[in-house]
Amino acid sequence: MKRIGLFGGTFDPIHNGHIRMAVEVAENLQLDEVRLIPVNQPGHRSRPIASAAQRLEMISSAIKVPLVLDDIEIQRGGTSFTVDTLNYLRAEYPGCSLLMILGDDAFWSLKTWHKAEDIFKLTNIVVVSRDCDGKERQESPHVSLGGVLSTHLTDLIDSIGRVYFLKTPLLHISSTEIRRKVRLNKSISGLVPTAVEKIILGNNLYTS
Ligand code: ATP
Ligand code: MG
Repeated sequence: MKRIGLFGGTFDPIHNGHIRMAVEVAENLQLDEVRLIPVNQPGHRSRPIASAAQRLEMISSAIKVPLVLDDIEIQRGGTSFTVDTLNYLRAEYPGCSLLMILGDDAFWSLKTWHKAEDIFKLTNIVVVSRDCDGKERQESPHVSLGGVLSTHLTDLIDSIGRVYFLKTPLLHISSTEIRRKVRLNKSISGLVPTAVEKIILGNNLYTS
Protein backbone atom coordinates (compact mmCIF):
# COMPACT_ATOMS: atom_id res chain seq x y z
CA MET A 1 0.00 0.00 0.00
CA LYS A 2 1.39 3.41 -0.98
CA ARG A 3 2.16 5.57 2.06
CA ILE A 4 1.78 9.31 1.58
CA GLY A 5 2.84 12.00 4.05
CA LEU A 6 0.88 15.27 4.01
CA PHE A 7 2.78 18.31 5.22
CA GLY A 8 0.85 21.56 5.20
CA GLY A 9 2.13 24.97 6.18
CA THR A 10 2.36 28.63 5.38
CA PHE A 11 5.92 28.14 4.08
CA ASP A 12 6.53 31.91 4.26
CA PRO A 13 9.30 31.01 3.51
CA ILE A 14 10.11 27.28 3.39
CA HIS A 15 13.30 26.67 5.44
CA ASN A 16 15.77 23.92 6.24
CA GLY A 17 13.81 22.98 9.40
CA HIS A 18 10.80 22.04 7.22
CA ILE A 19 12.93 20.09 4.76
CA ARG A 20 14.91 18.21 7.40
CA MET A 21 11.73 17.32 9.29
CA ALA A 22 9.98 16.01 6.16
CA VAL A 23 13.02 13.90 5.23
CA GLU A 24 13.31 12.46 8.76
CA VAL A 25 9.62 11.53 8.82
CA ALA A 26 9.77 10.02 5.32
CA GLU A 27 12.70 7.82 6.32
CA ASN A 28 11.39 6.83 9.74
CA LEU A 29 7.94 5.95 8.43
CA GLN A 30 9.11 4.57 5.08
CA LEU A 31 6.85 6.93 3.16
CA ASP A 32 6.71 6.77 -0.63
CA GLU A 33 6.32 10.54 -0.78
CA VAL A 34 5.69 13.61 1.33
CA ARG A 35 3.37 16.18 -0.24
CA LEU A 36 4.12 19.75 0.79
CA ILE A 37 0.85 21.67 0.72
CA PRO A 38 1.19 25.45 1.04
CA VAL A 39 -1.89 27.09 2.54
CA ASN A 40 -3.72 29.68 0.44
CA GLN A 41 -5.36 31.80 3.14
CA PRO A 42 -4.91 30.39 6.64
CA GLY A 43 -7.99 30.30 8.86
CA HIS A 44 -6.09 31.29 12.01
CA ARG A 45 -3.43 33.79 11.08
CA SER A 46 -2.89 36.75 8.82
CA ARG A 47 -2.21 36.46 5.13
CA PRO A 48 1.30 35.26 4.18
CA ILE A 49 3.68 38.06 3.16
CA ALA A 50 5.04 36.33 0.05
CA SER A 51 2.52 35.77 -2.74
CA ALA A 52 1.23 32.28 -3.50
CA ALA A 53 3.36 32.25 -6.68
CA GLN A 54 6.48 33.23 -4.73
CA ARG A 55 5.88 30.59 -2.06
CA LEU A 56 5.33 27.94 -4.76
CA GLU A 57 8.54 29.01 -6.49
CA MET A 58 10.52 28.85 -3.24
CA ILE A 59 9.19 25.37 -2.40
CA SER A 60 9.85 24.02 -5.93
CA SER A 61 13.41 25.31 -5.79
CA ALA A 62 14.02 23.73 -2.36
CA ILE A 63 12.73 20.15 -2.58
CA LYS A 64 13.39 16.88 -4.37
CA VAL A 65 11.83 13.44 -4.19
CA PRO A 66 10.44 11.97 -2.00
CA LEU A 67 9.28 15.51 -1.19
CA VAL A 68 6.81 16.85 -3.76
CA LEU A 69 4.81 20.06 -4.09
CA ASP A 70 1.01 19.92 -4.01
CA ASP A 71 -0.71 23.25 -4.77
CA ILE A 72 -4.24 21.98 -4.09
CA GLU A 73 -5.05 24.64 -1.46
CA ILE A 74 -3.78 27.47 -3.63
CA GLN A 75 -5.73 26.13 -6.64
CA ARG A 76 -8.89 25.90 -4.53
CA GLY A 77 -8.45 29.53 -3.39
CA GLY A 78 -10.13 31.21 -0.42
CA THR A 79 -9.59 30.15 3.18
CA SER A 80 -7.85 26.79 3.34
CA PHE A 81 -9.45 24.18 5.57
CA THR A 82 -7.41 21.03 6.18
CA VAL A 83 -10.56 18.92 6.32
CA ASP A 84 -11.44 19.92 2.72
CA THR A 85 -7.93 19.02 1.58
CA LEU A 86 -8.10 15.65 3.34
CA ASN A 87 -11.48 14.85 1.80
CA TYR A 88 -10.11 15.67 -1.63
CA LEU A 89 -6.92 13.63 -1.16
CA ARG A 90 -8.83 10.61 0.21
CA ALA A 91 -10.83 10.57 -3.02
CA GLU A 92 -7.74 11.23 -5.15
CA TYR A 93 -5.68 8.43 -3.55
CA PRO A 94 -8.07 5.60 -2.71
CA GLY A 95 -6.40 2.67 -1.01
CA CYS A 96 -3.37 4.73 0.01
CA SER A 97 -2.31 5.26 3.60
CA LEU A 98 -2.38 9.00 4.44
CA LEU A 99 -0.30 10.43 7.28
CA MET A 100 -0.61 14.07 8.20
CA ILE A 101 2.65 15.46 9.58
CA LEU A 102 2.49 18.23 12.18
CA GLY A 103 4.91 20.04 14.45
CA ASP A 104 3.65 19.96 18.02
CA ASP A 105 2.80 23.68 17.91
CA ALA A 106 0.29 22.92 15.16
CA PHE A 107 -0.91 19.73 16.88
CA TRP A 108 -1.72 21.53 20.14
CA SER A 109 -3.89 24.01 18.28
CA LEU A 110 -5.86 21.27 16.52
CA LYS A 111 -9.05 21.67 18.57
CA THR A 112 -9.54 25.14 17.12
CA TRP A 113 -9.39 23.91 13.52
CA HIS A 114 -12.48 23.87 11.31
CA LYS A 115 -14.34 20.52 11.71
CA ALA A 116 -11.42 19.18 13.77
CA GLU A 117 -13.37 16.04 14.79
CA ASP A 118 -13.60 15.00 11.13
CA ILE A 119 -9.83 15.08 10.69
CA PHE A 120 -9.37 11.87 12.69
CA LYS A 121 -11.86 10.11 10.38
CA LEU A 122 -9.70 10.90 7.37
CA THR A 123 -6.04 10.43 8.31
CA ASN A 124 -3.42 9.33 10.81
CA ILE A 125 -1.29 12.06 12.37
CA VAL A 126 2.44 12.03 13.06
CA VAL A 127 3.59 14.70 15.51
CA VAL A 128 7.19 15.88 15.77
CA SER A 129 8.36 17.93 18.73
CA ARG A 130 9.51 21.52 18.26
CA ASP A 131 9.73 21.67 22.07
CA CYS A 132 6.31 23.19 22.56
CA ASP A 133 5.99 20.89 25.57
CA GLY A 134 2.29 20.24 25.65
CA LYS A 135 1.29 23.93 25.54
CA GLU A 136 0.77 24.42 29.29
CA ARG A 137 0.03 20.70 29.60
CA GLN A 138 -3.51 20.88 28.28
CA GLU A 139 -5.34 17.68 27.39
CA SER A 140 -3.95 16.25 24.18
CA PRO A 141 -6.34 17.22 21.36
CA HIS A 142 -6.92 13.68 20.10
CA VAL A 143 -8.57 12.67 23.39
CA SER A 144 -11.78 14.63 22.79
CA LEU A 145 -11.56 14.44 19.01
CA GLY A 146 -11.75 10.66 18.65
CA GLY A 147 -8.12 9.90 17.83
CA VAL A 148 -6.19 6.99 19.33
CA LEU A 149 -2.61 7.24 20.57
CA SER A 150 -0.24 4.73 18.98
CA THR A 151 3.09 3.68 20.39
CA HIS A 152 4.23 1.49 17.50
CA LEU A 153 4.84 2.59 13.96
CA THR A 154 3.16 -0.58 12.72
CA ASP A 155 -0.14 0.71 14.21
CA LEU A 156 -0.18 3.33 11.47
CA ILE A 157 -0.52 0.78 8.68
CA ASP A 158 -4.06 -0.03 7.61
CA SER A 159 -5.66 2.24 10.20
CA ILE A 160 -7.17 5.68 10.62
CA GLY A 161 -7.37 8.25 13.43
CA ARG A 162 -4.07 7.22 15.00
CA VAL A 163 -1.67 9.73 16.56
CA TYR A 164 2.01 8.87 16.75
CA PHE A 165 4.65 11.06 18.43
CA LEU A 166 7.89 10.65 16.50
CA LYS A 167 11.12 11.46 18.32
CA THR A 168 13.58 12.69 15.76
CA PRO A 169 16.28 15.37 15.69
CA LEU A 170 15.03 18.70 14.33
CA LEU A 171 16.54 22.04 13.37
CA HIS A 172 15.41 24.96 15.48
CA ILE A 173 14.50 27.27 12.62
CA SER A 174 11.26 29.17 12.06
CA SER A 175 9.98 31.31 9.20
CA THR A 176 9.31 34.07 11.73
CA GLU A 177 13.00 34.12 12.63
CA ILE A 178 13.98 34.25 8.95
CA ARG A 179 11.59 37.13 8.20
CA ARG A 180 12.95 39.00 11.23
CA LYS A 181 16.56 38.51 10.15
CA VAL A 182 15.85 39.78 6.62
CA ARG A 183 14.07 42.82 8.08
CA LEU A 184 17.14 43.54 10.23
CA ASN A 185 19.42 43.06 7.22
CA LYS A 186 21.04 39.98 8.78
CA SER A 187 22.21 36.89 6.90
CA ILE A 188 19.87 33.90 6.45
CA SER A 189 22.59 31.77 4.94
CA GLY A 190 22.35 28.16 6.18
CA LEU A 191 18.74 28.60 7.35
CA VAL A 192 17.19 28.23 3.90
CA PRO A 193 18.47 26.52 0.73
CA THR A 194 20.62 28.80 -1.45
CA ALA A 195 17.94 28.92 -4.16
CA VAL A 196 15.36 30.15 -1.62
CA GLU A 197 17.79 32.77 -0.29
CA LYS A 198 18.23 34.04 -3.87
CA ILE A 199 14.46 34.31 -4.42
CA ILE A 200 14.00 36.17 -1.12
CA LEU A 201 16.81 38.65 -1.76
CA GLY A 202 16.03 39.01 -5.48
CA ASN A 203 12.40 39.94 -4.79
CA ASN A 204 13.12 42.11 -1.73
CA LEU A 205 10.84 39.85 0.29
CA TYR A 206 10.37 40.41 4.03
CA THR A 207 12.34 43.67 4.06
CA SER A 208 9.63 45.74 5.78
P1 ATP B 1 6.01 30.77 11.18
O1 ATP B 1 7.13 31.17 12.10
O2 ATP B 1 5.65 31.79 10.14
O3 ATP B 1 4.80 30.23 11.93
P2 ATP B 1 7.04 28.10 10.79
O4 ATP B 1 8.52 28.01 10.76
O5 ATP B 1 6.34 27.74 12.08
O6 ATP B 1 6.60 29.54 10.32
P3 ATP B 1 4.92 26.95 9.26
O7 ATP B 1 4.77 27.11 7.79
O8 ATP B 1 4.05 27.74 10.18
O9 ATP B 1 6.48 27.24 9.61
O10 ATP B 1 4.86 25.43 9.69
C1 ATP B 1 4.33 24.40 8.92
C2 ATP B 1 4.52 23.10 9.65
O11 ATP B 1 5.93 22.84 9.81
C3 ATP B 1 3.94 23.07 11.09
O12 ATP B 1 3.41 21.77 11.33
C4 ATP B 1 5.16 23.34 11.94
O13 ATP B 1 5.03 22.80 13.24
C5 ATP B 1 6.25 22.62 11.16
N1 ATP B 1 7.58 23.18 11.37
C6 ATP B 1 7.98 24.45 11.14
N2 ATP B 1 9.28 24.61 11.42
C7 ATP B 1 9.74 23.40 11.83
C8 ATP B 1 11.03 22.92 12.27
N3 ATP B 1 12.09 23.72 12.37
N4 ATP B 1 11.12 21.61 12.60
C9 ATP B 1 10.02 20.81 12.53
N5 ATP B 1 8.79 21.20 12.14
C10 ATP B 1 8.65 22.48 11.78
MG1 MG C 1 4.30 28.23 12.37
